[in-house]
Amino acid sequence: MNIQENISLKPFHTFSTDVKAKYFAPFKDIDELTELLNANILPQTSKLILGGGSNILFTKDFDGLVLKNEVRGIKELHEDNDYLYIRAGGGENWHLFVMHCIDRGWAGVENMALIPGTVGAAPIQNIGAYGVELTNVFQSLEAYDTREKCIVTLTSSDCEFGYRSSSFKTKYKNRYIIISVTFRLKKKPVYHTHYGAVAEQLENNKVQELSIRAIAEAVIQIRSAKLPDPAKIGNAGSFFKNPVISIDIYEKLAKEFPGFNARPLPEGRMKVSAGWLIEQCGWKGYRKGDAGCFEKQALVLVNYGKAGGDEIFELSQQIAVSVKQKFGITLDREVNMF
Ligand code: FAD
Ligand code: NAP
Repeated sequence: MNIQENISLKPFHTFSTDVKAKYFAPFKDIDELTELLNANILPQTSKLILGGGSNILFTKDFDGLVLKNEVRGIKELHEDNDYLYIRAGGGENWHLFVMHCIDRGWAGVENMALIPGTVGAAPIQNIGAYGVELTNVFQSLEAYDTREKCIVTLTSSDCEFGYRSSSFKTKYKNRYIIISVTFRLKKKPVYHTHYGAVAEQLENNKVQELSIRAIAEAVIQIRSAKLPDPAKIGNAGSFFKNPVISIDIYEKLAKEFPGFNARPLPEGRMKVSAGWLIEQCGWKGYRKGDAGCFEKQALVLVNYGKAGGDEIFELSQQIAVSVKQKFGITLDREVNMF
């Protein structure tokens, strides 16, 4: 058992704020995890499961045990006429997993290339990009149940996936530690190019014959041009979720604000671009000290160097208040706060 004390978390999360964990330990498999959870010296200590730290904002030191998921391995389980069933360890890097699938012609995850973080965190907020979400390729997951102290298999209905949400953010918060995820990937691809700038990028790339690799490459190019690279500028991607409003409210706002940016959802509501709302309030490119609102995408808050988590949090509160004042819309945080 390798429990380290007073460890800086700066290299372990993408906002790169300077915070410490009282205890820190990696685990490579279920045995190492259960040994750590049962360690006599730490029974009452609060615990945080850490993947790539790309969806976390620490506002203070973590006065507990950070358990870093390093469960590796990608395995083909079985196949049927249409699908391949692939299990990946929760500590596998998400983007490398996507590229592993593309190299083998396994289709379904290509639109989610270059999302930072780990496979084990992907179900937590049902990660998604360019019109595809984890739920579209999810079969099941294996998790350690900290309440019943056993390993369980959870299916899609247990996970209650929604827009950037799952039961792990609501009724099962802090209960399960995801060890591995099993994916259902297509043998024959179904391409999704209608979303964001994907079709335009494919055209710019003069792609003659569509493929999952061509889509992943286009997505990587768009993301690299638009989003801050966490290795250079601290950030956790979209800080807020896109709010969902009723048609009535949408019609009122669309009359009042020309260019009001929202799209219809299948269930008859409207998804508003949170980035647009923030931009309209004048925050895009704003900087105070080292905390800022990214100049190319207002939905992304950034740490230009030495910002504390409390400064970034304070900025996020100011942004949310101004959006509420101008549009009457409440922004919900996507990033997990500790
Ligand atoms: P962490 O940040 O380490 O953890 C996130 C939360 O999940 C924490 O509450 C943590 O305790 C919990 N958790 C982590 N692993 C486990 C586990 N094994 N078991 C139980 N709980 C766990 N997200 C999108 O959906 N789409 C995007 O396009 C996207 N783009 C991004 C771009 C950038 C530049 C950045 C920095 C972030 C982006 N994100 C995006 C957000 C982020 O990449 C995802 O939420 C990702 O899934 C987080 O993975 P992680 O391993 O870093 O999780
Ligand atoms: P974009 O393509 O400029 O689009 C802006 C917004 O419009 C996005 O929020 C997206 O919603 C929505 N949108 C675009 N095309 C759409 C369509 N055809 N139908 C419905 N909604 C549409 O956004 P971006 O900032 O460059 O991000 C591109 C993709 O990567 C998006 O899917 C975004 O969610 C994802 N992303 C996520 C994070 C994160 O941290 N969560 C960070 C960066 C990028 P959705 O957000 O619902 O897709």
